[in-house]
Amino acid sequence: MNPEQSSQAILKVVNLQKHYPIKKGAFTKKSYFRAVDGLDFEVNKGETFGVVGESGCGKSTMGLMITQLLEQTEGDIWFDGNHLNQLSERKKRELRRDLQIVFQDPFSSLNPRMKVFDIVAEPLRVHGIAKGEKLREEVMNLLKVVGLGEHHADRHPHEFSGGQRQRIGIARALALKPKLIVCDEPVSALDVSVQAQILNLLKELQKQFNLTYIFIAHGLPSVKHISDRIAVMYMGKIVELADKNELFNNVKHPYTEALLSAIPVLDPFEKKDRIVLQGEIPNPATPPSGCTFHTRCPYAREICRTEQPALMEHTDGHFAACHFPLA
Ligand code: ADP
Ligand code: MG
Repeated sequence: MNPEQSSQAILKVVNLQKHYPIKKGAFTKKSYFRAVDGLDFEVNKGETFGVVGESGCGKSTMGLMITQLLEQTEGDIWFDGNHLNQLSERKKRELRRDLQIVFQDPFSSLNPRMKVFDIVAEPLRVHGIAKGEKLREEVMNLLKVVGLGEHHADRHPHEFSGGQRQRIGIARALALKPKLIVCDEPVSALDVSVQAQILNLLKELQKQFNLTYIFIAHGLPSVKHISDRIAVMYMGKIVELADKNELFNNVKHPYTEALLSAIPVLDPFEKKDRIVLQGEIPNPATPPSGCTFHTRCPYAREICRTEQPALMEHTDGHFAACHFPLA
């Protein structure tokens, strides 16, 4: 195990960043915006690390960098004792098996021209792990594990419902027996009635295969049940990070408070003060000075406009980046 990574951690990211060029005229100087702007966190073996934040805050970009599908602009990633930045391409390819992703949209992430059998078999073929009868057995077993049947193997993705397609995506992610799976909003595109089924399946698989999850969602309700710890992101940065119960009971950052108050109250008789977030997410090309949340924060004061708050540990394991954390 790498000495820089604590013993129970399977993943550690340090100052992870992704900058994208902003398209401008041919003769103006190229400029960049920071889709992911310096993430630091560890994920422990076997835990579910929830990541939430509004659309566009950099969640998917983070997931793609961690699973080595997108190169970071800055920063370091340690996984399972290996410093990924320093690995040879061959070793990286090997480690990539252990890092899988389930995408948000089961409609566009599965090749419509391939049969389910080939979609699930592809990673096993690419890595030369199984062929012939053994491959068939493996694929059939994977389909069974995610609640599909052998008769589904010869069909194409369009013959399935959203929930079933996500099961196919999960079978494919499981094929190489990974250690960590990034679940990138795996139920956001599904009917509410099937969301719980897929969440339960993911929970069962986690137990069965000792998986670690990074579970991405745009709202807190979706990560509440599945997560052990939760990181809240705003404009490419983590603004709050804590154990799940601690986060819900003792919120420190005004942005998290706003996200919490946006949870729809199911009981129509329960009236609750809603903090409505003022304004839109600022243009990431021109982020606000100081604390990037100050333009929407009901508590912002002068210092918030000028100084960027650091992510600080307030109580054991509870981090927040705010000049005036909530009591
Ligand atoms: P999220 O998953 O939280 O909705 P993303 O990680 O998809 O956010 O995107 C973060 C920001 O980066 C967004 O502003 C998005 O438009 C931008 N972005 C994502 N991918 C690219 C890309 N390939 N090129 C340029 N900008 C991108
Ligand atoms: Mg996304």
